[in-house]
Amino acid sequence: MTLHGKYDPDNIFAKMLRGDIPCVKVFEDDVALAFMDIFPQAEGHTLVIPKDVEARNLLEMPKKKLGAYMERVQKVAKAIDKALKPDGIRVMQFNGAPSGQTVYHLHFHIIPVGEGQSMRSHASGEPADTEALKALADRIAAYI
Ligand code: AMP
Repeated sequence: MTLHGKYDPDNIFAKMLRGDIPCVKVFEDDVALAFMDIFPQAEGHTLVIPKDVEARNLLEMPKKKLGAYMERVQKVAKAIDKALKPDGIRVMQFNGAPSGQTVYHLHFHIIPVGEGQSMRSHASGEPADTEALKALADRIAAYI
């Protein structure tokens, strides 16, 4: 049902883009903002969101802006690789509640994964410690 609908300008990520609520920033330019996921499924779990679009999901992202945005997704994934040296990196993105989406502003998850490591559950549990997230963000940002 939520695959199609009206963009809510007061969704939590739109508020972060406006600076109305805080986030632990990893990277920002005129195209995208990357920040630490507050319920990390693994250490270093980062989200990358596009700026200046009202796109609830990938299907709604204007084609013209997609390439530049995906370059930022790749840039952050590469920085995570260099900074945290994981064995693998899961890049995931959900479209509509039945697929697992909980926030309706397009975002890609970048999740470093260690060999044999199981991921924590999605968007639940205890929020991570802000200072620990800041330390991780600094390590990743050093490679951008
Ligand atoms: P999705 O379920 O794909 O829409 O992903 C939304 C993600 O946003 C989840 O992984 C949540 O843990 C994350 N999240 C929700 N609120 C915040 C917040 N205030 N700061 C950082 N990440 C958040």
